[in-house]
Amino acid sequence: MDETTTENLECPKCGSAMETKLYGPKISIERCTQCYGMLVEPDVLSQMRKEWMVEAFLDIGHPQVGKEYDKIEDIECPICHVCMDKVTDPVQTHIWLEVCPNCDRIFLDAGEFSDLKYETFMDKVKGLLRGKRGS
Ligand SMILES: [Zn+2]
Ligand SMILES: [Zn+2]
Repeated sequence: MDETTTENLECPKCGSAMETKLYGPKISIERCTQCYGMLVEPDVLSQMRKEWMVEAFLDIGHPQVGKEYDKIEDIECPICHVCMDKVTDPVQTHIWLEVCPNCDRIFLDAGEFSDLKYETFMDKVKGLLRGKRGS
């Protein structure tokens, strides 16, 4: 087993219990049972961006609730107990994510992943349309 145990984690935003959620063979995340914030490993996040409809199963929190919790800053990684860094998505700079400087896990408030993924998808569509017009 890995040294970093993901059992009995507490949500860094609301203090509720987090539970492991699986989607397919590759995707495993920790999700808060109360605010539905998600703690995700970076390679899992990139995997989630590729999977069709994954957000409908995993990112089920209410975006309005997520927005409320997004106001909470200076949270600690529930695994390493170090202060997480606030970073913006390089493409979508309106989205703020919390990243642990120690284990690189990313905390997403409810609705943030859908936002991240949907806009990435729209960018792709726009890219396709542009490509068509150019050829
Ligand atoms: Zn929570
Ligand atoms: Zn950590």
